Amino acid sequence: MSYNRNENKRGNGNNTGYNSSRKNFSDKFTKLLWIENRFIGKIIGKGGANIKQLERETEARVQVTNQCDGNKTLIKVMGSIEATNKAHKILEKIQYQAAPLIPKPAPVIIETPQKSPPKKDYFDLDECLKSKEEYWARPPEIKKTFYEEHPDVSALTKKIVDRIMTIDYIVKPIAKPVLTFEQAFYNYPDILIALKKAKLEKPTPIQCQAWPILLSGEDMIGIAQTGSGKRLAFVLPAFIHIDGQTTPKEERRGPAVLIVAPTRELVIEINKEVKKYEYRGITSCCVYGGVDRKKQVAALQEGVDIIIATPGRMNDLMKLGDLDMKNISYLVLDEVDRMLDMGFEPQIKRVLYGIRPTRQTVITSATWTAALRRLADSYTKDPVQVCVGSLDLTATHSVKQTCIVSNESEKEEIFFDLLHDMAPNDKVMVICGSKGKTDYISVECIMRRLPSVSIHRGKEQKEREQAINDIMDGTASILIATDVVSRVLDIGDVTHVINYDFPNNMAEYVHRIGRTGRAGKTGESISFFTKEDWAHASELIEILEEANQEVPKGLCELAERYDKRNKKKNEDEELPKRKQLTLADLCGW
Ligand code: AMP
Repeated sequence: MSYNRNENKRGNGNNTGYNSSRKNFSDKFTKLLWIENRFIGKIIGKGGANIKQLERETEARVQVTNQCDGNKTLIKVMGSIEATNKAHKILEKIQYQAAPLIPKPAPVIIETPQKSPPKKDYFDLDECLKSKEEYWARPPEIKKTFYEEHPDVSALTKKIVDRIMTIDYIVKPIAKPVLTFEQAFYNYPDILIALKKAKLEKPTPIQCQAWPILLSGEDMIGIAQTGSGKRLAFVLPAFIHIDGQTTPKEERRGPAVLIVAPTRELVIEINKEVKKYEYRGITSCCVYGGVDRKKQVAALQEGVDIIIATPGRMNDLMKLGDLDMKNISYLVLDEVDRMLDMGFEPQIKRVLYGIRPTRQTVITSATWTAALRRLADSYTKDPVQVCVGSLDLTATHSVKQTCIVSNESEKEEIFFDLLHDMAPNDKVMVICGSKGKTDYISVECIMRRLPSVSIHRGKEQKEREQAINDIMDGTASILIATDVVSRVLDIGDVTHVINYDFPNNMAEYVHRIGRTGRAGKTGESISFFTKEDWAHASELIEILEEANQEVPKGLCELAERYDKRNKKKNEDEELPKRKQLTLADLCGW
């Protein structure tokens, strides 16, 4: 995109060019169906074979959306009345009668009859469900809550808490974030000593939020990348969890904590982190493929508190009964998106079924995808979702970054010029700093006939779903969202991210622009920068320079002026030493 208007200009006045360039469904019907998650795999089939077959047979377009509601997923069926009715009936049949997908099975899904009965997998879901209740009827007692809020945390105002929290959808009261190590672990002096030894200065944003949540026994989904400090976020509460169990350590059989990670390297890395903070003689052990299983089993049998495993080897141990899993009460699935991408979903499910349902579950992932949402819906209980950015700059290299230095009054017109200049196939995510601004921009877009939808926490779930559907199926191509909501949206093919309001910290900037330029594609980010944002000017210059992007003169000027002003401020020693409290200041990002 350039700033010059071009022939692809859309949405100006009565311009209808944009809509006509989209797939026209006006002569077609759309049916929406909520299908239980457990049937989704069957509907999609191997490599999408079943869904393609269904589309061929019925001549309807069937789309499994990423909309989940409890244990159900929204399926969209589009086409003529006959086609949508036919597809609808088949889909309902699958759900209610567990019928074959297509009335007349087509070759692609016919299974070749086997001479001998198929060899039974050691894990049979139905059998497991039948025996699950019995197996877990009398599980060993566990304790999950260890948190006592520090008085300084209790005294934090709502304004400060709101500024720190990066949690979407707070449907239940959750613990306030901490700002220091002391506030999180004042009841656990040994942990404070370990942190001091490791020479860490401040908790990272995910740690500030995760520690109170995890020490309160909640399930948590951390949307965070490597570099965010996510591992320490789940490791320290794991120590306290192990140490705080009512059954004495000597009487427990098998580990209390299981951490599953996608690769051998990550397993080793996590184990290093565990060993570095060594707490009250807690022991850990790595388990991964490619090395002698017997040696690993022997190590396990000596008795360990934490087992860190890859999903494949973990399954082998479960299959052969090498591991007593009855006492595992704290489970971490680290980088679960990678594990799902690597095809480990069946192994992860087996692990989940083998562990007591009353466990505490922590999931971390760099992205929030439909597959992850389904997994989380089924295997976590009311999880709190914490989303943070990171300063891993590799994400920024596939994005053309532009910074526009302006004042508030100029910004709006430049912004709408940019939107008008978008090409018909562009998909734009506009991120605003508040709900009010999101609503305002949204109304202005509607007035200017720009095909847009908006989404923020104040909207009903249905409105949010509709907005996501519209952007996914191309009905709208501009999504206007608040910063918090934009973090959890999983929208592929975003070509442009526009930071209408500049983010509060640079980790958030990196995260936001990483919404485009994914999967080997390139993307563009355009960030408006006003004098209000000048505290971030130097850091932004560094990021732009690192990625060989143009640095506007106005940005350098703001950086210099901010620097000078700070120096003067320090010299005068009249003004308060502390800057305005931002997440960056609090957490050192
Ligand atoms: P992770 O995102 O968990 O992979 O952590 C990345 C690196 O940051 C690891 O080397 C951690 O030891 C380190 N780290 C974790 N927490 C902090 C912190 N509060 N301050 C500085 N470094 C940290």
